[in-house]
Amino acid sequence: MPVHDATEVAAVAAQLRARQPAWAARTAPQRAEALLAWRERLLGQESALAEALLADTGRWQEGLLEIQACAASLARWASQGPGLLAPSQQRASIPFLTIEQGMQPYPLVGVISPWNFPLLLSLIDAIPALMAGCAVLVKPSEITPRFVEPLRASLAGLTSELPIDFVTGAGATGQALIDCVDTIAFTGSMATGRKVAEQAARRFIPAQLELGGKDAALVFADADLPRTARSLAWGSMVNAGQSCMSLERCYVQQPVFEAFAQLLTERVAALGLNTSDPREGHIGPVIAAAQARLIQAQLDDAFAQGARALCGGRLVEHGGGIWCQPTVLVDVKPSMRVMREETFGPILPLQAFADEAEALHLANDSEYGLSGAVFSADVERARRVASALRAGAVSINDCSLTALVHEGAKQSFGLSGLGGTRMGAQSIQRFYRQQVFLVSNGHPAPWWF
Ligand code: NAD
Repeated sequence: MPVHDATEVAAVAAQLRARQPAWAARTAPQRAEALLAWRERLLGQESALAEALLADTGRWQEGLLEIQACAASLARWASQGPGLLAPSQQRASIPFLTIEQGMQPYPLVGVISPWNFPLLLSLIDAIPALMAGCAVLVKPSEITPRFVEPLRASLAGLTSELPIDFVTGAGATGQALIDCVDTIAFTGSMATGRKVAEQAARRFIPAQLELGGKDAALVFADADLPRTARSLAWGSMVNAGQSCMSLERCYVQQPVFEAFAQLLTERVAALGLNTSDPREGHIGPVIAAAQARLIQAQLDDAFAQGARALCGGRLVEHGGGIWCQPTVLVDVKPSMRVMREETFGPILPLQAFADEAEALHLANDSEYGLSGAVFSADVERARRVASALRAGAVSINDCSLTALVHEGAKQSFGLSGLGGTRMGAQSIQRFYRQQVFLVSNGHPAPWWF
């Protein structure tokens, strides 16, 4: 892939800026129509997109899900957008004044995305931004940029309409992009997010940050344990744990700890690596050697402090790739790296708690606050606990539902992010500035003169 330098990024940004006014001048229903036309062509590129995602990530099923999620997002915004963007009018408390609410899209929105869902996280903010009337410049992760080519192909013939373009490269290309755009939607690690926020602050442009997490699951003694084990096996192991909303800590009420650990271990141990055929198996490879080293360091630290693996616990090499065995850990302590730092691997540590207060204390003892899960037959208790969790999205009696349901608004707590909600109808508000027109039909102000 080309590595775009600052001059090239600025040139692409200038072209997009030149195209944006015509796009914004279309009515919202016309823009919605263009999004639906793109959706058809995107689905027409499904197999090329899936192959590109497979080549970069070593997994198949998740790539197909990404494509379907993007198609669903195009349909959803095309259907909701016109209503959400319709101008509104109200009477002011002063009888001869009318308040008209308007909006001006940010001319150029920048998107910087990570490798773990390369296509989806490049488009999840781009689609509502286009709906709002913005042009969008996307820089995908340098680890997973192959989808750009088939995605461009899906836009061919539409490019005169849809002002979206892509630049490729690593951190320096990302920095150059931030210098050219009017608002930045960033998804990635907390460390990079901090740099992005600082650079954006110097330019006084808004930064929407969607960062890492150390999501906790709380399992109360009255929970349906087999169902909970099944759900958590998915929520912690899907995409080989390489999801921001992956459950990375699990606290289980003391009386059922042993029984639950056994049920969960049976489920997790049954998951297979996809080493022989990336289209088969459940657990794909670790994305890169650096990530494998990080996982190994966390496991080493945990084992050195007395943790035990009920299953898995090792990284294995096959044909030049590295896989992490699906792992359940016990005898863990809150001070261990695997309990504090984002792991991004198929590893779930289990720790016991006595009561609700201790469960909350343990779960909230984190600098992150992305999402979480609470399991209990007493739904009132589960709601009470969920509302005391410092996390933006809490699944009750299920896991990681934000991966599947994008309708509920949520914000990040702690170091998991910054800015307005990415989910829910109001998330489109991140891509325009609000204007108010105060229309006077009476005496000129100040009218008491
Ligand atoms: P990363 O921070 O290493 O990279 C993300 C992107 O930032 C890449 O495109 C990279 O090239 C770019 N970048 C690097 N340095 C930059 C700089 N100085 N300025 C601008 N851009 C720069 O993250 P990653 O390893 O690709 O992704 C994994 C992380 O993303 C995890 O922490 C995960 O939790 C997080 N994530 C969060 C969400 C969410 O919705 N909250 C979703 C997915 C992933």
